[in-house]
Amino acid sequence: MPVRVLKFGGTSVGTPRRLQRAAEQVARLVGSGESVAVVISAMGHSTDRLLARAQQVHRSPGGRELDALLASGEQVSASLLALALDRLGIAARSLVGAQIGLRTDSRHGGATIMQFDPRPTVELLDRGVVPVVAGYHGVDAMGDLTTLGRGGSDTTAVALAAAIAGTGREVRCEILTDVPGVFTADPRLVPDARRIAHLSGHAMLAMARAGAQVMHPPAVAHGLAAGVPILVRLAHRPGVAGTWIEPRLDERSGATAVARRADVGSIIIAGLPPLDRAILLAGLRDLSPLTLASDSPDGPFVVPTASLERSLSLAHSIASSHGATVVASTDVSVITLIGDAVPDSLPAPAGFRERSRDPWWIVPTADAVPFLQQVHAAAGLDRRRSGSRRHAVPARVHADDGATPSPCRST
Ligand code: ASP
Ligand code: MG
Repeated sequence: MPVRVLKFGGTSVGTPRRLQRAAEQVARLVGSGESVAVVISAMGHSTDRLLARAQQVHRSPGGRELDALLASGEQVSASLLALALDRLGIAARSLVGAQIGLRTDSRHGGATIMQFDPRPTVELLDRGVVPVVAGYHGVDAMGDLTTLGRGGSDTTAVALAAAIAGTGREVRCEILTDVPGVFTADPRLVPDARRIAHLSGHAMLAMARAGAQVMHPPAVAHGLAAGVPILVRLAHRPGVAGTWIEPRLDERSGATAVARRADVGSIIIAGLPPLDRAILLAGLRDLSPLTLASDSPDGPFVVPTASLERSLSLAHSIASSHGATVVASTDVSVITLIGDAVPDSLPAPAGFRERSRDPWWIVPTADAVPFLQQVHAAAGLDRRRSGSRRHAVPARVHADDGATPSPCRST
């Protein structure tokens, strides 16, 4: 029987009643002989509240002290869940990052996991004790608390599952949330969106990077690297089918999903020599791995809003030595179609279009939702039974239709 790493998200444990229900679910599983480890997020919006507090005492809080503050939200919920389990007669132990051997680099606010010692968790599991791990944080080489970036409890969960898998045990990770799985588009924006039953790890990674908020992108990457299957399902309705993210599932041809990133800005620099463009791209990727770049010589870069200011000053410094001009837009969104097909019937948006595997478009934010809906329908995602293991009939990737600026590959 596989070890089940259950990750409860913030809304799923947002009130004492929900926390109680989470404990009851764990107790039922343990009662039926399952081996369960829990990873937990901070309750409800408590991370936002802690951040707001920090902003009341400092104009731009960050670094070591902010991470120490933010990590406390998860500690609270882990201890409360362990107490709730104790009340139900289930042996449980709350654990923080240092206690589970979760080592990270020192990039506060967005640390990367360097090492994860499975022994503390596995020893508890072997003794029949439920480890209740506070997600979202670890410790760096100095022993200082670090956080993994917003949404990072997913990453704790999948990385824990991967560490346990490394001991030779069979393991699966379940992301318990307030949506019943991964959809072909955000169902709040696209009413025709459908649940996907089975999804390849690569497609999920592309979706997470393209802005689908179901999972923290590094979490998907950990699952892929370690071959850990991930189930995304409703937290308090364990019987309702969710989405299986299967690392070894073949990539399907055709379209899988469409996603939107609204938290971006675009940068266009005309007339930059190729070498300088490559240097700029490397610098932008250093600032954010989520940077997108068109492959066409004067095509746009897309960077997350959080790193836009620093990206722009880098762009200006490189452009100025060539007398090139930098044009930035902030009121834009990126729509990405996950898959290898650009539908024929798609109307050209008022914006830039990049043709590639996982083609993307930059559109004015005001047009983003209608365009998302159009792409979803044009790709046949509202009709096709998504998620079957069948390979869909590949949609045609057609030749240049001339309707949009020089389509090309993405780098
Ligand atoms: N509590 C953190 C956040 O709100 C981490 C998480 O929930 O995954 O971002
Ligand atoms: Mg989350």
